[in-house]
Amino acid sequence: MKRIYMDNGATTRVTEPVFEAMKPYFCEIYGNPSSAHNFGYVSRHAIDAAREQVAKAINADVNEIYFTGCGTESDNWAVRGAAYENVKKGRHIITTAIEHHAILHTCAQLEKEGFEVTYLPVDEYGFVTPEQLDAAIRPDTTLVSIMTANNEIGTIEPIAELAAVCKKHGVLFHTDAVQAIGSVKIDVKAMGIDMLSMSGHKFHAPKGIGVLYIRKGVRLQQFMNGGAQERNRRAGTENLASIVGIGKAIEIATANIDAHNAQLSAIRDHMIERILKEIPYSRLNGHPTTRLPGNVNVCFRFIEGESLLMLLDAKGIAGSSGSACTSGSLDPSHVLLAIGLPHEIAHGSLRLSLSEENTMEEADYVVDALVEIVSRLRSMSPLYDDFLKENK
Ligand SMILES: *Cc1c(COP(=O)(O)O)cnc(C)c1O
Repeated sequence: MKRIYMDNGATTRVTEPVFEAMKPYFCEIYGNPSSAHNFGYVSRHAIDAAREQVAKAINADVNEIYFTGCGTESDNWAVRGAAYENVKKGRHIITTAIEHHAILHTCAQLEKEGFEVTYLPVDEYGFVTPEQLDAAIRPDTTLVSIMTANNEIGTIEPIAELAAVCKKHGVLFHTDAVQAIGSVKIDVKAMGIDMLSMSGHKFHAPKGIGVLYIRKGVRLQQFMNGGAQERNRRAGTENLASIVGIGKAIEIATANIDAHNAQLSAIRDHMIERILKEIPYSRLNGHPTTRLPGNVNVCFRFIEGESLLMLLDAKGIAGSSGSACTSGSLDPSHVLLAIGLPHEIAHGSLRLSLSEENTMEEADYVVDALVEIVSRLRSMSPLYDDFLKENK
């Protein structure tokens, strides 16, 4: 059976050049980077090189790059670290209603601990505006965390403008850029970003490696206690091979963002155009153009997202309803509710997320399958039947 992977927003394949770069760091080069002998020096050197690759990709300095265990850890560290560090100034944090759960659940925990969190609403496309943010900042606000690009609907936020508002008020600005690396050009200096999270497995590095960029001078409470690794700020023996992998992967991912975006958005737009034209009562979620180049997110009325996924899977097609982290729960996506969709429509959502490895032929195969499956599911739907009778 033909298998088509269009769930790159959930995770990506480790590509061969990344795997090749990592290979020596299991059986041949294995010294503890903290050790004072040649085995250790060789490992330390590999980590330094990877740190340089990551720093260069976002125009940071090498000593502003901290390796973590995943995107979730980076988000937790940035938000909690900044919240705890600045309690003397205040206990107010601002984020948005459409963040990943790594941010939202961290904020919920902080609320239990006595912090106050403002969740900025978004418009129908998922945008927050600098004016909105400006109006929400208070004297006791210590941190703003707004994602660079949304993982479900692909909306790309005006990060430089939002960061400028924070700078004006002297408030720290963190962005979850996990979905953006390789698709959105990031220059932390030019954009005025204080902290930025990324995760290797979203851009062809392995799972279980993340980065938190912390601008020089930003004070942050420690997240892990232990050894002196990562300039005393993130203890734990380094994940050597994965660090080498994320260095190589980000170098590849950021080498040619324009070509990558042109290739993916052509496929994305072809799929969106065909879906909206060929499937009645379908709707695009997110903005038509200010969205991740590989993100297609659509709703089909009268359809359950879960049934759709199952039938797609039976045809060898991997997609997702909302984000991987929320599928499995039957609650509709908080992102789709935040952009104003009613529950019954939000339930019928599908996210297809592309990588450079997807082709136009695959795109057509997937849309053909969708046309057939949606029509089949609707033919069995009493809701659709009623709707047709009412609207005769
Ligand atoms: C995947 C994802 C995360 C979590 O990253 P992990 O490395 O899987 O912990 C956080 N934020 C966004 C936007 C994501 O897409």
